Amino acid sequence: MRGLIALKPRNAAAAGKDFPYGLPTTCFIEVSSDGSVSQGIDVQAYERAVEGTSRLFAVWPGTYSSDLFAIDDLDAYARAVGIVHDQERTGLAEHEHQIRWQPADLDSNGHGTYIYVVVHFECGCAIRDLRAFADQMRAQRGWDVATSSGWSGSGDRFTVRVRRRSLSA
Ligand SMILES: [Zn+2]
Repeated sequence: MRGLIALKPRNAAAAGKDFPYGLPTTCFIEVSSDGSVSQGIDVQAYERAVEGTSRLFAVWPGTYSSDLFAIDDLDAYARAVGIVHDQERTGLAEHEHQIRWQPADLDSNGHGTYIYVVVHFECGCAIRDLRAFADQMRAQRGWDVATSSGWSGSGDRFTVRVRRRSLSA
């Protein structure tokens, strides 16, 4: 009977920007220097890896087989999962956005909990990551942006859904 074959894991950095850090089915593993193994990576695990007291791995699930990768580029990982803000990935600078906004015509007379809002960036930003935009708008304006329903738009105009009461607050 064959046992486990220990292969040297591939490096996630070699997979470049395509590495699916954000894929919900990607399995993350932390191996501490004392040999303990745990599944999942939180901010504390990331910080331990930066300090060098643990190493991080990810299993990239494939259709027919899955591969183990060593997360060798911790900066890329941190940007990809939002531990470190990534302007290129999110389209959003880390600043107070200069925006104009108005309710979208399509439901301005509605009474739903959430309404569509057209956001016009005057600061040159764009929305490429709705969760990052929602986090920033919560902090900057108290907006409660719905992250489950996606967004639309391009250039400097985007349509998002925002909880009505958070707009008037
Ligand atoms: Zn901006």
